[in-house]
Amino acid sequence: MIPIIKPVMDQREADAASRVILSGWITQGPEVAAFEKEFAEFVGAEYAAAVSNCTTGLHLALLVAGVGPGDEVITVSHSYIATANSIRYCGADPVFVDIDPVTFNMDPALIEPAITAKTKAILVVHQMGLPCDLAQIVAIAHKHNLKVIEDAACAAGSEIKWNGEWEKIGRVRGDAAVFSFHPRKIMSTGDGGMLTTPHADWAAKFKLLRQHGMSVPDTVRHGSNKVIFETHPVMGYNYRLTDIQAAVGREQLKRLPGIVARRREIGDVYRSLLGSAQWLTLPHEPAYARSNWQSFSVRLPDHSDQRAVMQTLLDAGVSARRGIMCAHREDVYSGTPLRTPLPHSEAAQDKVIILPLYPQMTDGDIKTVASTLKQATAA
Ligand SMILES: *Cc1c(COP(=O)(O)O)cnc(C)c1O
Repeated sequence: MIPIIKPVMDQREADAASRVILSGWITQGPEVAAFEKEFAEFVGAEYAAAVSNCTTGLHLALLVAGVGPGDEVITVSHSYIATANSIRYCGADPVFVDIDPVTFNMDPALIEPAITAKTKAILVVHQMGLPCDLAQIVAIAHKHNLKVIEDAACAAGSEIKWNGEWEKIGRVRGDAAVFSFHPRKIMSTGDGGMLTTPHADWAAKFKLLRQHGMSVPDTVRHGSNKVIFETHPVMGYNYRLTDIQAAVGREQLKRLPGIVARRREIGDVYRSLLGSAQWLTLPHEPAYARSNWQSFSVRLPDHSDQRAVMQTLLDAGVSARRGIMCAHREDVYSGTPLRTPLPHSEAAQDKVIILPLYPQMTDGDIKTVASTLKQATAA
């Protein structure tokens, strides 16, 4: 069986976890602090704050952006449902705009018509690891005095061109970016997340809110030779990452450049093997974006039956996935009426499949996927 993804982990991650387990300090502490520092350095961010997962990180980013009950946040429906849910957690409403069918990311031209007096922020997604058109989106946000939060769940190691220079996603040009370390992503801590931001006050608020709104972190109390009584000036949450996970994350971060390089290599092999199948549309990288190919998507011809193609792949031992879901089609969002139709989002869910891609794939695996897909879709 060729799975959709496999975590890249070995004895190094096991040793890191075991070192922390035996150390006597196992939740948010020195390992989390070191992981934050190393992650910030890797992406070029001023500040980083680790959290329990990307969804809790999105919740904190929106709260600190000032999003509250009755506000609106412009986002895409075409994303994992956690993107929209994080807006609902704040008591606010997601306003869904459609995607560009070529990049699967928010179409910047649709943002201004969606802005109302209630709009507080734009929550963009770097979908499947491909950076969205951040320069245009940030310019629109500045014009309308809106905050920009990046759902970078899939985008660890992805790059964007900013003023002619390549930089990592996470060197935030809006207000905050949030990463996921779930095993479906390309680096993992089991579960986990990371916020990055250029604002010192935002970073301080993230750290306050993730630990019950407690004024003095327990690491400081523990290390002090004076008695310290903590206070709780605001209502916070328990969104901590453990030191066990952070130690695993530090090992994963060392591997990330190699993982991304190998994923891009496999992406190129898919391109060369599938290029002759003109009926398939392979993913497109705009001039400003370099994907980590967290998901390598292929658009099927209109007449294709997505489920049948996936079944043929499965019968051949290849585990594919359908296109990214649309939140507005789920019952839980039936109470959020659409202001505009989202045809490109719906087509991307219905006509796209995502192929297995992970560094351990052999040349034989890649060929099996490509040849089975070609046979299954040829007219
Ligand atoms: C995976 C994912 C999330 C959720 O991440 P968790 O770490 O599982 O909370 C959010 N948004 C997008 C786009 C994702 O792909």
